[in-house]
Amino acid sequence: MTSVAIIGTGFGGIAAAVRLKRSGVTDLVLFERADDVGGVWRENTYPGAACDVMSHLYSLSFAPKADWSRKFAPQAEIHQYLRDVARDLDVMRHVRFSTEVLAAAFDEAENRWVLSLSTGEEHRADVLIAATGQLSRPSRPAVPGLENFRGTVFHSAQWNHEHDLSGRRVAVIGTGASAIQFVPAVAPATASLTVFQRSAPYVLPKPDGDYSERARSAYARVPGLLRLSRARIYATNELRSLGVNTEPRLLFAHRARFRRYLREAVPDAGLRARLTPTDPMGCKRILMSNDWYRSLQLPQVEVVTEPISGVREQAVVTADGREHEVDTIVLGTGFAATEFLLPMRVTGRGGRDLHEQWKDGARAHLGTVVPGFPNLFVLYGPNTNLGHNSIIVMLEAQIGWVVQAVRLLRRGAARTLEVRPEVAAGFDAWVQERVGHTVFAGGCRSWYLTASGRNTQNWPASTLTFRRRLRRLRLDEFVVDAPAELVPAGEERA
Ligand SMILES: Cc1cc2nc3c(=O)[nH]c(=O)nc-3n(C[C@H](O)[C@H](O)[C@H](O)COP(=O)(O)OP(=O)(O)OC[C@H]3O[C@@H](n4cnc5c(N)ncnc54)[C@H](O)[C@@H]3O)c2cc1C
Repeated sequence: MTSVAIIGTGFGGIAAAVRLKRSGVTDLVLFERADDVGGVWRENTYPGAACDVMSHLYSLSFAPKADWSRKFAPQAEIHQYLRDVARDLDVMRHVRFSTEVLAAAFDEAENRWVLSLSTGEEHRADVLIAATGQLSRPSRPAVPGLENFRGTVFHSAQWNHEHDLSGRRVAVIGTGASAIQFVPAVAPATASLTVFQRSAPYVLPKPDGDYSERARSAYARVPGLLRLSRARIYATNELRSLGVNTEPRLLFAHRARFRRYLREAVPDAGLRARLTPTDPMGCKRILMSNDWYRSLQLPQVEVVTEPISGVREQAVVTADGREHEVDTIVLGTGFAATEFLLPMRVTGRGGRDLHEQWKDGARAHLGTVVPGFPNLFVLYGPNTNLGHNSIIVMLEAQIGWVVQAVRLLRRGAARTLEVRPEVAAGFDAWVQERVGHTVFAGGCRSWYLTASGRNTQNWPASTLTFRRRLRRLRLDEFVVDAPAELVPAGEERA
């Protein structure tokens, strides 16, 4: 019987567990370092947190939900959805909570993965699936003096709910996807809120709104209606791939819409200039909000574009020497996205270290498998992030492919599957060449890039292309270690 270990219980881990169980895998364990399922939707509890892909699509294809409260559901509702899916589809009993996987090593004698757990135990499994996400480790900026700050500091992904921001003088560092959600939610109650902006984001209106009771009941009752809505959102998003991945000039309509929106939303020309992005559109994530610009014009809110030079006991200091007195600093500085699988130590065939192999940037064939690391599958792995559509589409494509691989192992047709180095190298060359033609290569500094400028995050094509490439597992892409009786006479074992 093939045993499978999954690390992580976000969308990826839960979906993989359901699909593997449905394909007959019963020897299955999920390790989760936290005490609940949910991944980023468990962690990011900041005020205003919500998805930015419509919920009819930002949900699992095999677990449709007709009664989302809004078009873009809030965090708590998405978290509850994941809990419900894990409970209803019988994943919960396979999860070992509060158990971090510290290291994973491939044992060549046994052809199994040996996991070292934070509980001090070891766990062995034939197949290892890392569903640790790209955005599960908050990134703290290296600001000189931050450690000497006397007030309260926290990251948006570790929101301090004990610390009421009403009447406080708050500094927000960063203007990314999280900040544009929590600033409008907290700013009105603060005494002052200073937003430190390194680069202005493109923010478009969010076509959000509540679903009426009638609409929800129609989605639940009318056959095919929810699927139709999902397909419509998918197709609309997918069309944007042309502008994002193929011909950035095709984003002209979005650019025009952005300029119009900014002009209408921010009448003050000076502030508008500071809020006008200098990067090409799409180079960083295009954001959506209906209240970001409004919140920046509240009397107690200031947008500072001067770079931060340091932090003192009671102030953030900018390069012009100005001291901005605050009692709270909220870091909206995103995640250590390029550091895939860290801090876990992963050792493959011949004792090779995954992070050593990835020292010039993480890479994986189809974002999923790595030469030298048999029977290891990485979900939402290198170059599987998107600028135009739902990550769940990518995760489900990967999972379908992994299930095919596990089926093969279960049938005994192979003991290990290991992608051929030349196949992985060829794929990587294609990804890197293609990504150079996308909007992500527009010259900005984004979380998609490593320090040396390699894009390790984004898929450079449509999700249709990704799905097509992962529809069928191609055995010729692998070194297949088959049991002796299955190797045809006269053929060498790979
Ligand atoms: C605030 C926010 C909003 C987002 N909104 C959208 C959106 O609207 N649309 C979209 O497509 N994408 C969005 N994303 C991207 C999001 O990351 C993916 O959509 C998806 O949720 C990723 O799921 P995952 O299971 O791959 O990873 P995660 O959700 O990151 O889950 C990883 C899990 O692994 C666990 N883990 C990690 N390491 C270990 C270890 N060593 N041992 C044990 N457990 C471990 C973590 O605790 C976590 O539970 C958003 C991300 C964030 C942060």
